Amino acid sequence: MAATPAPVLIAGGGPVGITAGLLLARFGVPSVVLEAQPAHAPVGSRAICMQRDALDVLARVGCAAPIVAEGVTWTLGRTYYRETELLQITFPERGRSAFPPFVNIPQSSTERRLWARAADEPLVALRTGHRVVGLEQDDAGVTVRVSTAGGIEDIFGSHLLACDGARSTVRKLLVLGFEGHSYDDQFLIADIRTDLGFAAERRFFFDPAWNPGRQVLVHPQPDSVWRIDWQVPGDFDLERERASGALDQRVRAVVGDRPYEVVWVSAYRFHQRLAPTFRAGRVLLAGDAAHLMSPFGARGLNSGIHDAENAAWKLAFVRRGWAGDALLASYDTERRAAARENLRVTGETMRFLVPRDAEEARRRRAVLERALTDPAARRLVDSGRLAEPFWYLDSPLTTPWGDPDAFPREPGVARPVVPGVLCPDGPCAVPARPDVVRLRQLFGSGFVVLAPTTADVANLEAACRAAVRAPVDVYALEAIDQLGGLASALETGRRTAYVVRPDGHLAARLDGPDPRALTLSLRRAVGDPGGLPDGP
Ligand SMILES: Cc1cc2nc3c(=O)[nH]c(=O)nc-3n(C[C@H](O)[C@H](O)[C@H](O)COP(=O)(O)OP(=O)(O)OC[C@H]3O[C@@H](n4cnc5c(N)ncnc54)[C@H](O)[C@@H]3O)c2cc1C
Repeated sequence: MAATPAPVLIAGGGPVGITAGLLLARFGVPSVVLEAQPAHAPVGSRAICMQRDALDVLARVGCAAPIVAEGVTWTLGRTYYRETELLQITFPERGRSAFPPFVNIPQSSTERRLWARAADEPLVALRTGHRVVGLEQDDAGVTVRVSTAGGIEDIFGSHLLACDGARSTVRKLLVLGFEGHSYDDQFLIADIRTDLGFAAERRFFFDPAWNPGRQVLVHPQPDSVWRIDWQVPGDFDLERERASGALDQRVRAVVGDRPYEVVWVSAYRFHQRLAPTFRAGRVLLAGDAAHLMSPFGARGLNSGIHDAENAAWKLAFVRRGWAGDALLASYDTERRAAARENLRVTGETMRFLVPRDAEEARRRRAVLERALTDPAARRLVDSGRLAEPFWYLDSPLTTPWGDPDAFPREPGVARPVVPGVLCPDGPCAVPARPDVVRLRQLFGSGFVVLAPTTADVANLEAACRAAVRAPVDVYALEAIDQLGGLASALETGRRTAYVVRPDGHLAARLDGPDPRALTLSLRRAVGDPGGLPDGP
């Protein structure tokens, strides 16, 4: 009888850990989630803004539809200075996504959906009350020591994915630092049930009469709950505020004399921190265990979900013998680059929101005053640049195309369709698969090659089989693009072909359906530009 394969171990059953387990299951890879808490009982709303491309990942594990159905969809952000609206944020899109730019839902609801899905997935074993306290690794795998109610236990796996949050035990056991800084000011975050009379949109107020000198952010959530987020001084004491009635006055200043109920309230200090590497041998770090950033921009969980996806396909490829060590190494290269970009963007936002000295405060006030009349100054007003997927332009897996210096790197700009970016979505039809109505439904289990015409398919399929062990599906764009939307979303030329990775990022854009160019780009995309990966 064949031995049962060792599972991938996942430390932490937060949203990133569970997403990773579900994604591994899609590749037939078993995992064991080790969660320290005795039961999964998430509290509070924390990450409320789910970005459309992160929802797409959740769609692959069967969780997006209920999240969208329960959540509040919004498409517009408004920013005010005192009583005057300064600017509006909208979200550019190439192609046609299945999801709105953002859906607001409490993190606790997202987690409940993920846990329910994982409980139904035979390849994901959920172990609550299992706190990771030690680990050892060698060429054969990783042995994780856990503390449980019954005592200490050792559990063996092929790899360990550390999703154990900001205070990650795994990161500490690996003696990895968490360099960065923390902010002095705190943020008071309350979920208030009331009828505010606002539209379902993000509203950010600089220096409103009801929080002079600081800012307030208001976000809609389901069931008439509003997230209200006040910047408060470093010595703010929530219990004192509650006891003195100051919290009630603060809420009243926003809701007026409408009835309200406090659903959840907490005060946070925000941090900008990054682990020096996201990989140590057979251990990968993901989510808050790897990076921690201010939530203005909603980049924490959204990027953690992309970490989970990046780690899952690479771990699965290595486990299945479709790729070697270089593919795992690319997890660190790609996801740490993404985290650095998120930290750069959120760091700039925090400099604007929480000036570090009198000079920065003076500059901020000048920008806000000028923005009342000068559209150029409005571009400098930074109330949070919202989450977007990273681009793996410089990744060793990406076949370069075009001039990387011409690539627009500022936040919130539609990216050109070049290798490294996430492939746009759009309506599509595959005769043999009536369930498929949009392009991204074809992604997630192997590579996809989009050939220009049906006549190119057989030739390219043969090249794929000779190039890599991983599964590759080849589709003719002319056959699946029945409405013409894909060609325009992909900005495709008549003979252009694309190689798409399992996570939907473009690995290559080929100027013709050339089998040799396809072979080279596929080998590069599994981390092995020189030859075939070693067998299992
Ligand atoms: C106020 C606030 C608002 C936010 N808003 C947003 C937003 O709008 N959008 C967004 O994208 N992000 C937002 N974030 C960030 C988001 O909440 C985090 O990025 C997200 O929770 C990270 O998920 P995770 O799974 O990596 O870690 P966690 O959610 O921290 O989960 C870690 C899990 O590991 C478990 N664990 C810990 N130690 C061990 C151990 N030794 N052994 C086993 N298990 C262990 C914990 O019990 C926990 O279940 C916000 C954060 C805050 C604080």
